[in-house]
Amino acid sequence: MRYVSTRGQASVLDFADAMLAGLARDGGLYVPESWPTLAPGEIRALAGVSYAEAAYRITRPFVGDSIDAKTYRAIVDATYANFTHAAVAPLKQLAPNLWLLELFHGPTLAFKDYAMQLLGNLFNHVLTARGRRVTIVGATSGDTGSAAIEACKGHDAIDVVILYPHNRVSEVQRRQMTTVNAPNVHAFAVNGTFDDCQAILKALFNDAAFRDEISLSGVNSINWARILGQVVYYVVAGAALGAPDRKVAYAVPTGNFGNIYAGYVARRMGLPVAQLVLATNANDILSRTLATGSMTRGEVVPSLSPSMDIQVASNFERMLFDLLDRDGARVAQQMAAFADTGELVLSPPAWREATSVFTGFRLDDAGTVAEIRDTFGATGEVLDPHTAVAVAGARAARTDAAVPMVALATAHPAKFSDAVTRAIGRVPALPPHMADLLARKETFTVIDNDAGAVKTAIRARLAQGVQA
Ligand SMILES: *Cc1c(COP(=O)(O)O)cnc(C)c1O
Repeated sequence: MRYVSTRGQASVLDFADAMLAGLARDGGLYVPESWPTLAPGEIRALAGVSYAEAAYRITRPFVGDSIDAKTYRAIVDATYANFTHAAVAPLKQLAPNLWLLELFHGPTLAFKDYAMQLLGNLFNHVLTARGRRVTIVGATSGDTGSAAIEACKGHDAIDVVILYPHNRVSEVQRRQMTTVNAPNVHAFAVNGTFDDCQAILKALFNDAAFRDEISLSGVNSINWARILGQVVYYVVAGAALGAPDRKVAYAVPTGNFGNIYAGYVARRMGLPVAQLVLATNANDILSRTLATGSMTRGEVVPSLSPSMDIQVASNFERMLFDLLDRDGARVAQQMAAFADTGELVLSPPAWREATSVFTGFRLDDAGTVAEIRDTFGATGEVLDPHTAVAVAGARAARTDAAVPMVALATAHPAKFSDAVTRAIGRVPALPPHMADLLARKETFTVIDNDAGAVKTAIRARLAQGVQA
């Protein structure tokens, strides 16, 4: 399988190189040159097999010759052996024809583990095979940092450095980053905001000499392998609910458009997806785009579902590439205009196509609290605030009550306990394997809000690792 850039200029790469590259050199994102398909019989045969087996069958065509079949199978098996539910991504019924797909049974209790764990294992395998080592540096406002740390800890070919804003993440989120006791994990508390962390990260990537010195790399949500790891649970849930002989719909709490784009990929592969409900909080750039045909940047406002507090959804560029009939030059031109003016206007056919796949939905914080309270009252199920946005969207925006609707539960309620406590009047408990999180020993380094200070600290940590 070969990968092309959405902006049409960067070199065509195989799976392993597209994964290591992350962003393409022309500023675009890598996508497969063509969509592999699953025959109806192949989808039907997934019902009842283990999650790892299904993950292998669904993702194998995308990996191609980069990794041999037996090795890839072992990587996938090892990846999902770490999850704490035997079904890995269990379905739970909430109401007639309404289902919750629980994606919080990985090590950090959010859906990002499902792809990040795979990415960590793939990175380590490919780098080891090539005799290479990288330093992954990421900035986080919460979920991505801990998922990256858990995915990289203990891998010999990787050091992982996570920058998070000091005193500005929740206690559970901080402890998930600071209590991982591994010599290749480095949690840096920056005296600043999340935007400051991102600005420092950008400065590190823009310093070519430093980039080469530490073999700087990234694992953010534009990495193709992260999309790939997310396609699996759409197909697995669909097959369990009767696909390909029955259509299935999904409601997805959306920020950066990575998760819901994986649903679109499943549809392109042949899964009969009736509807993808794109559910946002008050940061509604994408639901507005579907309503008006024009994407206009706004200001980020903090919400109860912080992992969706985003105004520029970087993965939308992959969708745009297909909406524009895979014309990289037009994508490059539209993205440049968006960077310039803050506006991207879809042509009438592209807008029609987008609205035939996605249904927009928006929910504010008051609606989020009400949804958590109502679902708890009706079912006893405790939703996290991101999941609540999806469940409300699943109820409000579904077009056919006869089609099974699956709402993606992207985080465990204990991860966002303030909002949940406000809604139901009690604090949600952490799962048993994490019950002692608040008592574990923390290790982190507090650093000035300055790229130079971060570079010095990274050099010091890497030198220590080499001696140890
Ligand atoms: C990251 C995240 C989202 C948003 O997913 P995107 O792929 O960015 O659209 C939703 N919910 C939770 C809990 C998350 O961590």
